[in-house]
Amino acid sequence: MKKNDNLALHGGKPVRDSYLPYGRQWIDEEDIKAVTNVLKSDFITTGPTISQFEKEVAEFVGSKYAVAFSSGTAALHAACFAAGIKDNDEVITTPMTFAASSNCILYTGGSPVFADINPQTYNISPEAIKPLINEKTKAIITVDFTGQPAEYDEIMSLAQKQGLIVIDDAAHALGATYKEKYIGSIADMTMFSFHPVKHITTGEGGMITTDNELYYEKLLEFRSHGITRDPHKLQNFHEPWYYEMQELGFNYRMTDIQASLGLSQLKKLKTFLTKRREYATKYNNAFKNMNEIITPFQKQGSNSSWHLYILRLNVHKLKTNRNEIFKALQKENIGVNVHYIPVYLHPFYQQMGYKKGLCPRAESVYQEIITLPLFPKMSVEDLNDVIAGVQKVISYYSIY
Ligand SMILES: *Cc1c(COP(=O)(O)O)cnc(C)c1O
Repeated sequence: MKKNDNLALHGGKPVRDSYLPYGRQWIDEEDIKAVTNVLKSDFITTGPTISQFEKEVAEFVGSKYAVAFSSGTAALHAACFAAGIKDNDEVITTPMTFAASSNCILYTGGSPVFADINPQTYNISPEAIKPLINEKTKAIITVDFTGQPAEYDEIMSLAQKQGLIVIDDAAHALGATYKEKYIGSIADMTMFSFHPVKHITTGEGGMITTDNELYYEKLLEFRSHGITRDPHKLQNFHEPWYYEMQELGFNYRMTDIQASLGLSQLKKLKTFLTKRREYATKYNNAFKNMNEIITPFQKQGSNSSWHLYILRLNVHKLKTNRNEIFKALQKENIGVNVHYIPVYLHPFYQQMGYKKGLCPRAESVYQEIITLPLFPKMSVEDLNDVIAGVQKVISYYSIY
C-alpha cells in the first residue's frame, strides 16, 4: 500500500502553525515582583537574598551547605577546585552529556577519562568505571542524564573503596530522588544549573550543595577571587581593613537580582515537577505500542525530574535514519533536539587525542535519539501536537 505523503518536509501542512521549542522558562508576575523588590533594595549583589536562596536550596535537597555561582559551569569549575583536581589527576566521567561536565576537569588541569554508558538508562555504567580506576584517578563526575539519577549505590561504594571524590552534575536533576533521597544529598558535591531550560531559572546561575565543611569553605573562596577575611584563616597580622588572597579564585558570584528570581521560582518547583512527570507519562502512554520507537527506560527505586524526554528510534523498523526524522519533525514545527553529541567527538577533544570508538554504546545511542519538547509551560494541546507529529512522521517512515 502506498502511504499518503503529507509530511511538511515534502510540502504538506505542518501539525502546528507555530514553532514549539524543546524547553523554556516559565516566569510569572510574582517572579517579576520579587526581582523588582531587590532592585529597589540596598543590595543588588552579594546581599541577603543570596544566602536565603542557598539556605532554601540546601533545605530542599537535604544538604548542609549550598553555594551559589554565576553559572552551573562556574559551579563545576569550583567543585573541581575544591576537590583538589590538578595536573596529572584523572577524573572519570560520562561522554553522554553537555561539554561543561568534562570541561571543568580541564579547567583545573586534570584529564577527563570517559566511561561508557548503560545502554538502557544512558547514564554512566558503574561496570565501565571500574577498569578505568588507577593510581592517578582522583574523582568521578556523574551526570543524572535527563533527570534520572545515576547508579549511586554502586558508584558511591566504589568511590569509597578507592578513596575517590564524587561530583554529581545534576543540571538535569533538581527534584529527582534516588532511594528516597533527593539528588543533592548523595554525592560529595552536587551541581545544579539555573539556565532557562532547566527546572528553575535565574537567567544564568548555578549552585553546589555539599555536607563537607572543607569543600564549602573552598567553594566560597573560589567564588570570590580566592580572597578571605576570616580572622582564623589569615596568615599575617591584620588591621580591620586587611584581607588576603590565598588561592587563585575568580569572580563567579551570583547577584541578588538573580537569587531573588531563584527564590521565587523555587516556590513553584513542586508544581513544575508535577507537570513534567505528568507530561512524560502522557508521552509514554502515547508511544508505548509503537514498535518503531523506544520510550525512556526508568530504573526502579528512583524518580526522575524529567528535564528531558528522549525517544530512541528502533532503526530496524524504519526506512530512514534519525537525521531525516529529526528534519521531518522540525518541519512539522516540533522543536526536537539531540542530547548529546558524545563529548570527546567534539573537535577540541579530538585534537587532544580522544579517539572515535572510545565509548561505542554512547556513540550508537547518539545516532538514534531525539529529544521531544518538554517543559511545564507547554499546554496539553502543545503536547498533543508533539504526539501527533511523532505519529505522523514515524508512521510515514515505518516499515510496516
Ligand atoms: C546546563 C548544563 C550544564 C551547564 O550549566 P550552565 O548553568 O549552563 O553553565 C552542565 N551540565 C549539564 C549536563 C547541563 O545540562
